[in-house]
Amino acid sequence: AAAGPAVARPEVPSEDNKLRPKRIAEMVGQRDVIERLQIAIDAARHRGEPLGHILFDGPPGLGKTTFATVIPNEMETVVQFANGAGLKAPKDLIPYLTNVSEGSVLFIDEIHRLPRSVEEYLYTAMEDFRIDIVLGEGVSARTLNLDLRPFTMIGATTRAGMLSGPLRDRFQIREHLGFYPTEDLCEIVCRNSKKLNIGIDQESAMEVARRSRGVPRIANNRLLWIRDYAQSKASGAITLDVAHRAMDMIAVDRLGLDKQDRAYLQTLVRVFAGGPAGLEAIAHTMNCSSDTLEDEVEPFLLRYELIVRTRRGRMATPKAYEHLKTAS
Ligand code: ATP
Repeated sequence: AAAGPAVARPEVPSEDNKLRPKRIAEMVGQRDVIERLQIAIDAARHRGEPLGHILFDGPPGLGKTTFATVIPNEMETVVQFANGAGLKAPKDLIPYLTNVSEGSVLFIDEIHRLPRSVEEYLYTAMEDFRIDIVLGEGVSARTLNLDLRPFTMIGATTRAGMLSGPLRDRFQIREHLGFYPTEDLCEIVCRNSKKLNIGIDQESAMEVARRSRGVPRIANNRLLWIRDYAQSKASGAITLDVAHRAMDMIAVDRLGLDKQDRAYLQTLVRVFAGGPAGLEAIAHTMNCSSDTLEDEVEPFLLRYELIVRTRRGRMATPKAYEHLKTAS
């Protein structure tokens, strides 16, 4: 049977889905990004045309998938979810492209992982809404030229630098998502506590926010853990004391660094004498993947000036030494 593409929804637990905003008005922070998108959405709707292609980049958990959920809702259209890692050849892309309806959205997460052949296949699809399909093989092969319905591509990447120029240029709107200030995370924690029926005071919400490394997904995860802790070890309500004890138990320190973040700093300081050290060497020593370190650990350490990147490698800053001394 000619089944449609397997819609690769992000693997998220249902509680995460419950917390994910559905409309732009429910999103917190990223005001300048939202303002620009709102203008593009209003204008596209006014013209009755699909929205231009949009590329989001930034560290994980800052809202790329959330934007890919709320934008189609604002445009009153549907979205297909795909992942760059799963699209190994142009034929993997064809079901998605032939499935697009006029003005609908195709979201490709981890778009930097598309192989070159798939990326090139996207060029005419994105620019002219047209693809070539090769039917048959060898001498009897023929090419079918297929018109697609105009659609909007939303790409997301943690590595904007890995995208080729021609692919990047085909996105009319390019937005970088940065870390959230503590006040915005506090607002997210408060809103989500209400959604989950959790009692939390302002001071505790602020503490959760402070220890969430600028990332909404981490704030949500911390909140869910502290909720469990409060229900199991206390009266159910989240107080500052409960929040501290819960975060101590999972070894989240006062800057919000977890075991892996501190292991990175300790490796750099103790094994490599503060650096400079190459990413691969640090990853080997820690026995984990360099991608994880580069995507999930380093962006926050860089932003907090705990490490610097030099041409010769990563170096720990005096702030890192200070933090390791005081971190529990
Ligand atoms: P990844 O690259 O790992 O897929 P992502 O950048 O796509 O991450 P999301 O999955 O969109 O991140 O965000 C994680 C969670 O954080 C969401 O489920 C949502 O609950 C929350 N979140 C993200 N951005 C916002 C926001 N601006 N306002 C409120 N909640 C947000």
